[in-house]
Amino acid sequence: MRILLLGGTAEGRALAAQLHPDVEVISSLAGRVPDPALPVGAVRIGGFGGPQGLRRWLAEHPVDGVVDATHPFAAKMTATAAQVCADTGVAHLVLQRPAWPTDGAIVVRSDTEAAAAVAQHGFSRVFLTSGRSSLAAFTALDAWFLIRVVTPPSRDLLPQRHRVLLSRGPYDYDGERNLLVEHDIDALVTKNSGGAMTRPKLDAAADLGVAVVMMDRPTLPPGVVAVPTVADAVDWVRSLR
Ligand code: NAP
Repeated sequence: MRILLLGGTAEGRALAAQLHPDVEVISSLAGRVPDPALPVGAVRIGGFGGPQGLRRWLAEHPVDGVVDATHPFAAKMTATAAQVCADTGVAHLVLQRPAWPTDGAIVVRSDTEAAAAVAQHGFSRVFLTSGRSSLAAFTALDAWFLIRVVTPPSRDLLPQRHRVLLSRGPYDYDGERNLLVEHDIDALVTKNSGGAMTRPKLDAAADLGVAVVMMDRPTLPPGVVAVPTVADAVDWVRSLR
């Protein structure tokens, strides 16, 4: 049995590890970060070239199923996989970790809405953890930013007053609390990524009374089957036999 596993997440790597070697897993990474954490088994790197490209790839590499374990905010890849699998009749599953609770957070739908919320509330010392692709929305704001990203952002996207912190999770509570205190942060901006690896910032923010601006997840394409855990995805793959 052979599976295409759209990855780029810890869950994707865990699923590859649990299926390998009884199931032939081809993990696919977007190739956004240099030196990515690699799953076990075969790996291909780079975009497919939209729905047409994925359709071509699947014709050349027949699989028994596609598991989409991309990040909850990787909406384009998720839409492409759902559409192509529906069109071609390939079994398709989304593995998506549960969202974080949003109690007390200012919930927004996009990076632009998050930036507007920061301006409206007059936050002046902001911990920005929503990733490089959301930076442009904050560039013109008159606040100081602690910007945590995996790869260096281009200079023209950076707000005037900032510090860039290059790092990759997981993070622990004490480290996150220290960052918030040391930089006198009054608001944390985050995507609702879910999962334990980057959650401690929320716990530290709650304990310190730091406001949280949380970007809501994009909705999944209609009709897709989604499961919340790696164990569920393993069961789904085994049921394809
Ligand atoms: P996206 O906006 O949905 O994807 C943009 C394009 O990148 C897709 O259309 C596709 O190109 C290519 N792509 C994305 N994921 C791919 C994969 N696993 N394998 C092959 N091509 C892929 O996604 P994104 O937000 O740029 O995320 C890219 C990757 O980073 C994903 O694997 C995701 O799991 C990971 N990631 C994303 C975030 C986030 O906040 N978005 C956070 C952590 C990790 P083509 O159209 O050419 O096929």
